[in-house]
Amino acid sequence: MKAIRVHEFGGPEVMKLEDVPDPKPGPGQVVVRVHAAGVNPVDTYIRSGAYARKPSLPYTPGSDGAGVVEAVGEGVKRLKAGDRVYLSGAVSGPYAEKALCLESQVHPLPQKISYAQGAGVFVPYATAYRALFQLAEAKPPEVVLVHGASGGVGVAAVQLARAAGMTVIGTAGSDKGKELVRKEGAHHVLDHHAPDFADQLMSVTGGPGADVILEMLANKNLGKDLQLVATGGKVIIVGSRGPVEVNPRDAMMREATVKGLMLFAASERELAGIHAALAAGMENGTLRPVVGQEMPLADAPRAHQAVLAPGAYGKIVLLP
Ligand code: NAP
Repeated sequence: MKAIRVHEFGGPEVMKLEDVPDPKPGPGQVVVRVHAAGVNPVDTYIRSGAYARKPSLPYTPGSDGAGVVEAVGEGVKRLKAGDRVYLSGAVSGPYAEKALCLESQVHPLPQKISYAQGAGVFVPYATAYRALFQLAEAKPPEVVLVHGASGGVGVAAVQLARAAGMTVIGTAGSDKGKELVRKEGAHHVLDHHAPDFADQLMSVTGGPGADVILEMLANKNLGKDLQLVATGGKVIIVGSRGPVEVNPRDAMMREATVKGLMLFAASERELAGIHAALAAGMENGTLRPVVGQEMPLADAPRAHQAVLAPGAYGKIVLLP
């Protein structure tokens, strides 16, 4: 089969399309024919060698994907050949025609969700769900600021918060992104590059600020977030690409809580809750992953450049 292989950490060009042996499922394992693989920013950090968790070389990137179960190993009970599924990680990455997975990494994909959409389910939606409900414990009628709402996690957070009855403020940096955020359910849409962003945010909340802030770029925004969060509010750090200076007094004055999120830290029980909630949301139509760009598998290097570029629009997926 064809797979993207990384033999050394480095720039996007270290990803090469190669022929590798087809995977065979061992006990408790499942082979999935991948119809689409999701591209997440973390895939680029891992490929560059800058991430705390480094796979042993060579490896096939990715953790998100969707497709059809091709074969199951001994002892697999929940799945059978022919099932439509999405992945939450894999033993051998989904940037390939086939992925080897543990049974626990393979979940039913409802008929109404396409394979390309299915490749944008796990990391974005699980992260957004964990941020909103497991860490921030957000409840209606709270006001949620999704700071960076045009990308994978942001769109997911807007849909989840809107469906749960929160007032949603979403931000984007391009006109196309702002249009998407509005279409996916934000009550108010702001430009995170606007010089008067803070004033606009306070004005749409009617003064007190946001009860919950989901922050996609904390190294830029955390200092300001501590001035925009309401008294007793919570800031959840979802993404950060460097250090930042903050004034702790801003948090003290508001008795605000700042929590960091790490999806991989979710317990088995929490993950079970996440998958159950995502299944319900996909079934009832409130969760609809948005695919902004589809690219052939061989274009993985281009996809890694695109996912870090400004002007996000939902998910980028690779089609093997
Ligand atoms: P993505 O699809 O690339 O989207 C990035 C988002 O950040 C876009 O909405 C982008 O908006 C926005 N952004 C750009 N500049 C911004 C600014 N100055 N202020 C606020 N937002 C800004 O990425 P993603 O998949 O949604 O992930 C978002 C971040 O969370 C990434 O850093 C990712 O690594 C991280 N993440 C962390 C975890 C975890 O476990 N902690 C899990 C998943 C993701 P425009 O392009 O419209 O400007």
